[in-house]
Order: sequence, then structure tokens, then C-alpha cells
Amino acid sequence: MNIVLLGAPGAGKGTQAQKLVEEFGLAHISTGDLLRAAVKAQSELGLQAKAYMDAGKLVPDQLVINLVKERLQADDAQAGFILDGFPRNTAQAVTLDSELAAMERNLDAALLVDVKPDVIVKRLSSRRTCRSCGYTAPAGVDVCPRCGGEMYQRDDDKPETIQKRLDVYQTQTAPLIEYYRGHSILKEVDGDRPVDEVYADVRALLTA
Ligand code: AMP
Repeated sequence: MNIVLLGAPGAGKGTQAQKLVEEFGLAHISTGDLLRAAVKAQSELGLQAKAYMDAGKLVPDQLVINLVKERLQADDAQAGFILDGFPRNTAQAVTLDSELAAMERNLDAALLVDVKPDVIVKRLSSRRTCRSCGYTAPAGVDVCPRCGGEMYQRDDDKPETIQKRLDVYQTQTAPLIEYYRGHSILKEVDGDRPVDEVYADVRALLTA
């Protein structure tokens, strides 16, 4: 099963991806996580990406596309993958289609986790993320329940950057909903519900 997750930042894509990974053994390819790891490691890519990320802007396509290409070729992605945070614009979606075609693979579904913008602002401003494993939880949780790592507030989850990220989502990423509807692989769930209820629908949609 090869899946693309769509939805605004904070819609719960990462959480749903995690549950799909646990149940179906898919590779979780989160470009945000990969980029944050590159920033932490102070690699060449990390140094180039950091300023864009801090400003809530998209990192240039070619940098992200190279990362994704490499991950799609890794062994763990051969049995299926979930792309989380990629593609973020039409150019990335078109490139993904041609890369997959060259690998004689295709997408089975583009799953939209739909949450209204006012809910997103509240979620992101109270979101804390584990420095070690990327697990997310609401403010007040100081130790990661999954790995014991330190929970912190991402710079781009601070109020001044949240609106910018939502604007970028609306203008650049939301058009992908129609792109995948046009390819007849769009599936939608209401993400403004408890995690397990959302997942029950996700599961039903993907296994139907
Ligand atoms: P995320 O964790 O998915 O919200 O991503 C955090 C940040 O990483 C975004 O605000 C962008 O700056 C960058 N980023 C993640 N994925 C992409 C992508 N597919 N294209 C460009 N920039 C990205």
C-alpha cells in the first residue's frame, strides 16, 4: 500500500501515519522529520533548509525531492510507504508521479485529514514534539510517553509562524486535493475527532 497524506500542518497526519505504520508495516516518510534531522545534524542540506523552515516557508523543491527519492529506494519502503508532508505543491506531486512510474510503482490513495483552520491554530500553538522521536502531544506533557525524550515546542509552532504555514498550505498545498481527486485516488476523513475515531475511518477507507 502506497499512500500520500494530505492535510494542514497540525491536522494529525503524523499521528495517523504512526498508527498505519504499526498496523501495516509501511515505511513512514515524513519530509518534516527528515529535514529536522538534517538541521540537527548540521548537514549541508540542514544548513540550506533551516532559514525556510524557521520562516514557515517551503524548502526549495529540489532539496526535498532528492530526500524523498533516496527514501523511496530504501529497502523498508519496498513493501509500501506513507508520505507525510510530501508533496506540498503541484510540482512535487508531478515529480512524485514520474519517479514512481520510473520505479514501476504507483499511489493507491491520497488521504486527506480534514481539520478547520481555527482548530489547527489552537492545536499547533499547544503542540509539543519529542526531540528524539518526533512524537507529538499537547502542552503539559514534558517527557515523551513513547521514548522518554524531552518534549519541546518547535520554533515553527510558535504563533508568529503558524499563520504563515497555514497561508502556505492554502495557496500551495490545498490545490493537491483537486489534483488527486482528478486522479480518482482522493479519500477524505474528518480529522476533528478523537484519534481512534479518525483512525477507524482511515482504516476502513484504505482497506475497502
Ligand atoms: P512539517 O513537519 O511537515 O510541518 O514540515 C516542517 C517544515 O519543513 C515546513 O514548514 C517546511 O519548511 C519544510 N518542509 C516539510 N516538507 C516539505 C516539502 N515537501 N516541501 C518543502 N518544504 C517542506
